[in-house]
Amino acid sequence: MEQVYGGIDAGGTAFKCIVVSSEQNIIAEEEFSTRTPNATLLECIQFFHNAQTSGQTLHSLGIASFGPLDVDPKSPNFGLILPGPKSEWAGTNLKTIFEQALTIPVAIDTDVNGALLAEQAWGNAKGCAAAAYITVGTGIGAGLMSNGLLLGKPAHPEFGHIRVERHHDDRNFGGVCSIHGDCLEGLASGPALWARYGDPKDLPENHIIWEIIANYLAQACVTLSLTIRPEVIMLGGGVMRTTHLFAKIQNQYLHMINNYLGQSKSDVKQMIVPPGLGARAGSWGGVRLAQNLKNTGGIN
Ligand code: ZN
Repeated sequence: MEQVYGGIDAGGTAFKCIVVSSEQNIIAEEEFSTRTPNATLLECIQFFHNAQTSGQTLHSLGIASFGPLDVDPKSPNFGLILPGPKSEWAGTNLKTIFEQALTIPVAIDTDVNGALLAEQAWGNAKGCAAAAYITVGTGIGAGLMSNGLLLGKPAHPEFGHIRVERHHDDRNFGGVCSIHGDCLEGLASGPALWARYGDPKDLPENHIIWEIIANYLAQACVTLSLTIRPEVIMLGGGVMRTTHLFAKIQNQYLHMINNYLGQSKSDVKQMIVPPGLGARAGSWGGVRLAQNLKNTGGIN
């Protein structure tokens, strides 16, 4: 029987499930909307049960999940969703639920750490030793890598909550972060866009809001460049589907950093990019986590 791997991109809007062969071919794929833990997890478990009963051996499962999350393998709560914006999910241990339901080893990390590992294996950070993956969606989070290793262990970075300097045309908006108000997430996430001008889809490309959002994201990129010196910074998530944002972020980055690192415009164009794995970066992230479990000896 063929050995296959499972991956879940556990997101705030949907749980994207995937089963892939050892040659990285997608065998099955389905997405379930994020409702209550009971309802959504049952559907995911059924999906992987179906894979298990259709002639394949599911070797392991990896979950790339929204946070905050306990990702410390030494913690008794390893795999537990911690209190955060998705309060209904706090106290749910994704790792143990899937381990018990599927009786296979289950790996877990943040969605952005998973996506970053997948991008390093197969995507736009292939072969990089220093890289960052930022998701800009319902929230903002980042997976950071330096010297080939994920940063922030045994916890995970909370990069979405860094402070940024206010844009001069954005002084009156209080920000939407329930903890800090106007941190990066409070100012540049999807809900922060909606809170100012309603549905961003209706806003023209030359609307001032896009310069404002690009400014905050460029500040985040400058901060990363000046600290971990990433070879590539991937920006994913719902807000980044507004593709004209990339050029705006690259231009503002160039302006802010003022040639301090000697980067040309084309260097910056190659550094600030979308994920190579597109909307599947998270689910491939789950697969990569599952495969790494095997590489490190796993738990079985
Ligand atoms: Zn915050």
